[in-house]
Amino acid sequence: MTNVNVAKGSCLCGAVSISATSMSNFVGACHCNMCRKWGGGAFLAAECGADVSFEGEDSIGVYQSSEWAERGFCQKCGTHLFYKLKQNNQYYMPVGLFDNHEGLIFDHQVFIDEKPEYYSFANETKNLTGADLFAQFAPISEDS
Ligand SMILES: [Zn+2]
Ligand SMILES: [Zn+2]
Repeated sequence: MTNVNVAKGSCLCGAVSISATSMSNFVGACHCNMCRKWGGGAFLAAECGADVSFEGEDSIGVYQSSEWAERGFCQKCGTHLFYKLKQNNQYYMPVGLFDNHEGLIFDHQVFIDEKPEYYSFANETKNLTGADLFAQFAPISEDS
């Protein structure tokens, strides 16, 4: 993940705006049960590192979805704002928040083993199971 952009975005109602100074232009989909429960479908996310700032922070709600991660949302309109790993403050942001989609490449899918049968993406991507993913991030274990 070498290419980085300065990305601006906002929630649906505009109460929260986002500035991510080191967003990857590689987009991934997460098919895990929690992401699909959270958003109603696969979570399309861009890795944004730790350099993310928000305006309208008063409107941000945070849900502790596991011991190691939390999920943010706008309390006014319900827009999902981030999935964040607590141990290193890494943000994974829903790519649809950002206004500029130029140069984005959808190149990987994770928890492919939890993807239900009724849909699949046609893009050619690198696909990892949950077990593959946890093997890459050894300190983080078990569920998402
Ligand atoms: Zn909002
Ligand atoms: Zn997930």
